[in-house]
Amino acid sequence: MSKITSSLESIDKEIYGLISKESIRQETHLELIASENFASQAVMNAQGSLLTNKYAEGLPNKRYYGGCEFIDSIEQLAIDRAKRLFQSKWVNVQPHSGAQANFSVFLTLLKPGDTILGMDLSHGGHLTHGSPVNVSGKWFKAFHYGVDPISQQLDMKAIRQIALESKPKLIICGYSAYPRVIDFEGFRSIAKEVGAFLLADMAHIAGLVASGIHPSPMDFCDVVTTTTHKTLRGPRGGMILSNNLELGKKLDKSVFPGTQGGPLEHVIAAKAVAFGEALQPEFALYSRAIVSNAKSLSKRLQERGIEVVSKGTDNHIVLLDLRSIGMTGKKADLLVSEVNITANKNTVPFDPESPFVTSGLRLGTAALTTRGFDNQAFVEVADIIADRLLNSQDEIIKSQCKEKVLKLCSNFPLYKNI
Ligand SMILES: *Cc1c(COP(=O)(O)O)cnc(C)c1O
Repeated sequence: MSKITSSLESIDKEIYGLISKESIRQETHLELIASENFASQAVMNAQGSLLTNKYAEGLPNKRYYGGCEFIDSIEQLAIDRAKRLFQSKWVNVQPHSGAQANFSVFLTLLKPGDTILGMDLSHGGHLTHGSPVNVSGKWFKAFHYGVDPISQQLDMKAIRQIALESKPKLIICGYSAYPRVIDFEGFRSIAKEVGAFLLADMAHIAGLVASGIHPSPMDFCDVVTTTTHKTLRGPRGGMILSNNLELGKKLDKSVFPGTQGGPLEHVIAAKAVAFGEALQPEFALYSRAIVSNAKSLSKRLQERGIEVVSKGTDNHIVLLDLRSIGMTGKKADLLVSEVNITANKNTVPFDPESPFVTSGLRLGTAALTTRGFDNQAFVEVADIIADRLLNSQDEIIKSQCKEKVLKLCSNFPLYKNI
């Protein structure tokens, strides 16, 4: 007989066993997926708390349910900390994810059939920025810009031209696989010229923005969306920010009741904890280390003959162009996964391969930097990746690579010793 006080281990051996296996996987693999990170024990404690029991439709002190006095304080803390962290006048911390945050913005600013302009998915944009398989591409008329074929970086003149021709109601900047600094001010001037709203989706770089390492979009955009689980290192979730209070009121309504029901207050508590962590001086050092580590990784891989898109990085992302070694992303993904390295195949700009095959491998340094990996450790990581990719048939090198990975993992333990 199960009671609500029984432990997971005693009540559900299947799920408990699988969580244990996942824990070992996280401990013994090099996590290089650019959109992932490791939340602190404190964040996970809040997220795993009994706050999951509480319905709290509405906003702090304006709820549709009773018993929200402590929930109100929790959500208000999350809001206040986020405001301080990003110097934002208005924040909504309820979006369940980055995609939900974007959808709420669309509901606020657009009507079906309106025109939007975002970056092409294959150049580093996100599905929610007008891809035909997403509601943003199905319900809106989506135009796309890409990067310059030579520099592989944003070309503001070319983007202005596309904006002038497509006359979008909303321009979206902020990406999933772009390793360079985004010129939010440049986007502002284009949006102003064509009379468009400007949305910055800083999902990937939010932690770097919070630390002042990447320029902030707050002063230049009508609205900013983000995830909270990438470089920001919080629980899985989303958030919307704006300095326009009138727009904020509309955005609040678009989150609830526009697109969501009850907020996930256990996740919101975990967001508050993560924002509290990000306000500490150590977090800026962490963000600095993320970028410095990405530069080390990128430099070493290039020295080993593997090209990286845009020939370097300014953030946490290093996007390998595997055409330089005659390999596909799909193959490379498989090869590194065999030696306990987790990354993802990714298109490169103007990719001749399909999205299922691709010519790129996307790497990010946020997660391993959380484990304490430094520049030297990232040079080792680069060498292991290069050894594996450049000697794909060599079984001896393969097992050496795996040994080196396991050694790095035990030198930089994750949650093991908490
Ligand atoms: C990750 C990401 C999202 C989506 O976040 P989810 O939480 O997975 O919904 C949206 N936009 C960008 C640019 C992203 O990188």
